[in-house]
This record gives sequence, C-alpha cells and structure tokens, in this order.
Amino acid sequence: MLTKAPRGTRDILPDKVGNWLYLENLIRKLCGQFGYREIRTPIFEHTELFQRGIGETTDVVEKEMYTFTDRGNRSITLRPENTAAAVRSYLENKLYADTNLCKLFYIGSMFRYDRPQAGRYREFHQFGVEALGEANPAVDAEIISLAVQFLQDLGLKDIKLLLNSVGCPKCRPVYRQKLQEFFKPVIGEMCEDCQSRYDRNPMRLLDCKNEKCKELAQGAPAITDCLCDECNEHFHKVQDFLTAAGIEFELDPSLVRGLDYYTKTAFELKYIPLGAQSAVLGGGRYDGLIEECGGKPTPAVGFATGLERVLLALEMQNLLPETVYGTDIFIVALGDSVQAKAFEILTNLRKDGFEASMDFAGRSMKAQMKQANKSNAKFTVILGEDELKSNSAVVKDMQNSTQETVSLDDLFATLKAKCHK
Ligand code: AMP
Repeated sequence: MLTKAPRGTRDILPDKVGNWLYLENLIRKLCGQFGYREIRTPIFEHTELFQRGIGETTDVVEKEMYTFTDRGNRSITLRPENTAAAVRSYLENKLYADTNLCKLFYIGSMFRYDRPQAGRYREFHQFGVEALGEANPAVDAEIISLAVQFLQDLGLKDIKLLLNSVGCPKCRPVYRQKLQEFFKPVIGEMCEDCQSRYDRNPMRLLDCKNEKCKELAQGAPAITDCLCDECNEHFHKVQDFLTAAGIEFELDPSLVRGLDYYTKTAFELKYIPLGAQSAVLGGGRYDGLIEECGGKPTPAVGFATGLERVLLALEMQNLLPETVYGTDIFIVALGDSVQAKAFEILTNLRKDGFEASMDFAGRSMKAQMKQANKSNAKFTVILGEDELKSNSAVVKDMQNSTQETVSLDDLFATLKAKCHK
C-alpha cells in the first residue's frame, strides 16, 4: 500500500511532464485566440452542487462520485467534472455583470470511481470550455470550432465530429413518450439499468453500452423528427455555421443527454482507433443548468475533453514532440576546499539565467563527469584545488570534448559567449 498509488491514479513522471506542458501551452494559446479566459475552481465542492448540476439519475452521480463527510459534518465531493463548478463560480462571483457572454476555460484533475482501463482512470484531467450567457447558435459553432481546431493543431487525423440536437423541455416530452412506446414491448429484455431508466430517463436507453440493449434500440425514433420550431431552427443554424467554417460533421440521433437542462446542440469528437474509449471530447448546450443552480434563466454551451485520451491518440500517431532535458552547465568540484567557491559560482550562474547544476556528493572526477553527461550539460566547469589557487577553472565543451583554462574573472563572460546568453 505504501509504495502503490491508489487504483486508477497515475504519477506523471518527470520524463512525461513535457507532454503535459506541450498540451497545456497549446490549450492556453488556442483559448487566447478564441477569447476564452482561464478559471480555476476548487478540487472539491458541496455534494449538492454536483447532484443538482450533473443530475441525480446520471451514472456519475449514482455510482462514481468520491463523496465524504468532512470534519465540519458537511458532505463534500471531489469534482467529477467542472461545468457545475464553473456555473457556481459564475453565479457566486457575478461573472455575468460586465458581459453578455462569459467565455471560460479550465484544465484540471477530475475524479470518478470508474472501472479503470486504458484511457479510463479514477483521477483524470480535463480541458473544458464554457460560454455562458448567449443563446445564439453561432456560439455553439464557435466552441465546436475551438474543439476541432484543438485536435487539428495537435496534428490528429481521423477525428469524427458527431452532431445531434436533444431538443428542449417543450419538445422533449413528446419524444420521451414516443421512445417509451417504442421500448415498451422489449423493456423486459433490457438490462437492469435500462429498466430503471425507462420511467425516469428514457433517452438514456439510447446510449446504453450493453450489446443486447444496443440491438433492441435499433430503429428507435429520432429526436430530430420531434423538435419544436425553435430547436429545429437552432439545429439548422449550427449546421450552417459549421459548414461556413469548413467543419465536416455527421448527424447522430443516438447522441443524447438525458437531463432536462441539456438543450438543443449535443456533439462528440471521436478518435476511432481508441476503440472502447474513442469518445475524446463531448459537449453541448445546457440552457437550463444555470437556473437549476439558482441563477436567472441563462443560456450556455460547453465541452470537456479528457487529456489522457488525447495523449493516447497522440502517442498512437507518434505526434508527441520529443523533449530533451539538458542543462547549460555542470560544475565538477574536486575536493572539500573548493565546495564553497563552486557553490558561489553555481548560485551566480543561476542568477544570471543559466541552467546550472553540480554534484553534491564529493565524488571522483570520473563519477562527476559521468553525471555531467547524464544531465546533458553543454559545458562543464571543472574546479580543483590547483585551479582555485590560480583563480581559474577549466571549461570543457561536452559536445566536441575541447577544453580551455579560463580565469575566474572571465568565467561568466566566456560562458555567456559560449551559451549565447
Ligand atoms: P464527460 O464529462 O463524461 O462528458 O466526459 C468528457 C470527456 O472526459 C470524455 O470524452 C473523456 O475524454 C474524458 N473522460 C471522462 N471520464 C473519464 C475517465 N474516467 N478517465 C479518463 N477520461 C475520462
């Protein structure tokens, strides 16, 4: 136990951190281009926020939340997603006060008690975008375009955009009834989850992962045949904007979100080679959520993407840039009497903007040179007792193995010229 991380969690080791920084830098640049600003909300929130904000009948709330009672007897939950928290913060901090469209993005860890497998973890990282305050279908198209550009900028190919509309509380009841009529004769053959969803949330019968249920759902009525005029017009306008932006999409009537506050646009980006975990990014409109969380009725739209899945896809296509770690200068200090001088040089080099390291174990010349090599140093500065006496050091170019003796008075100027600092 002491030497094993909890199931479903992983360390991001130093040699992999470069991949994460690469993703995060790209996200921050892209969101800047689209005018979205970063928000960082707490890792945990009151449990009620997620029960309300994600919905009592979802798998996340029913089975997957990390919930505990804190020492003040409050029920607290580690965030399983970030939309509800973004909405909470939007309301609490009145982010609506100085704009009609509040554009936010986040990057961070989420927690779900899920069955771990490749691409599915109990602690995972999401990048997400929320646009709060505007009903115009152009905003749906803007965030879809951001999502598509994100994966394109990474160089990913074979990405499929699936699009649907889930209607609104006006037109959905008609559809629900049609669905219940369709499933009524076969509901007894469906899985337990589907049976319990039949009354509470019949749209979820369409996205059950059980093979038998999938088969029975074939030929179910499509919601797009039941949309009210307003939802229908919105759906077509989103498609027009996407077409204008040159973004290809496929209509998928089985893409559903079973909750009342999800409205109109639903979309998903799939990277098919990832198999069971091919859903890389999912999003849509949630015009009812802000009201559900205690605000005024406010339209909103957003998406979230799992960065572990994005990284898996990038690895599969060999698209991760190689990060080579190195240091400018490694100081080889030989003997006790030179340690303080070496440390002074090390400190001043760092103050001057060099990447610099030294050996602290007082080892042999050979061992220290080996370490200098391992740390990919461009130059080593060798300081022994003789050098110190003559106020000098040996500077060795690690690439071509040439070396020269330099006065300590000229050391910094020499290194600056060599390292182009
Ligand atoms: P959701 O919030 O369920 O709509 O998920 C949005 C995205 O987060 C998915 O498309 C996945 O890429 C990612 N995701 C969701 N659950 C997990 C998980 N347990 N492990 C890794 N990624 C996940």
